[in-house]
Amino acid sequence: MKTLLIATRNQKKKRELQNILTDLDIKVITLEEIDIDVPEIEEDGETFEENAIKKARVTADFTGYVCLADDSGLMVDALEGKPGVYSARFAGEKATDEENNQKLLTFMQGIEEEKRTAKFVCVIAICTPRGEVRTVKGECKGKIALEPRGDKGFGYDPLFIPDGFDLTFAELPEEVKNKISHRGRALREIVPVIRGLMSRYE
Ligand code: IMP
Repeated sequence: MKTLLIATRNQKKKRELQNILTDLDIKVITLEEIDIDVPEIEEDGETFEENAIKKARVTADFTGYVCLADDSGLMVDALEGKPGVYSARFAGEKATDEENNQKLLTFMQGIEEEKRTAKFVCVIAICTPRGEVRTVKGECKGKIALEPRGDKGFGYDPLFIPDGFDLTFAELPEEVKNKISHRGRALREIVPVIRGLMSRYE
């Protein structure tokens, strides 16, 4: 069976992909399942595309597998797109989700509701050992809540109200979030891309 390596140690991301790829006859594996020491890859790009491609490229070159990697984050209009590629470390290198959320709320103080627009962005890159590269992007628009609400999900979920809803991502059921989220959209879009690229591999 053809194998696709996801450049992540995150089992949740692997499950999400496997669910979407069930009909494709492709085995999805993560870094933990191979015996090759892929070096830690620094996410130092200025865009989500740069980071996703770097992770997928380095991993494909190192392992010889067709590799998939993603990079995602939150872009707030009133903050000129911040925290963007710095989403995970907005409040510092080892910041917790709570610290990042608190920093975002502090930056948003005094900004009225209609100016609290934002979007989540997810870029997925696939690189092959032969040097091919493909990317897709998924976005989810919404606004930043006045205070954190809900205990599901992760990251900025308690502060993000997707368009068309009154609840935050952290209050919505996981199935609803997956349907409309940036990552869900990007994952569905990557399916035909994977199919095309993998058809050329044994
Ligand atoms: P990464 O793509 O896993 O590196 O995610 C970068 C950061 O963006 C995460 O640490 C979160 O802070 C934020 N982020 C990305 N996707 C989501 C999401 O679906 N909900 C909440 N926060 C997210």
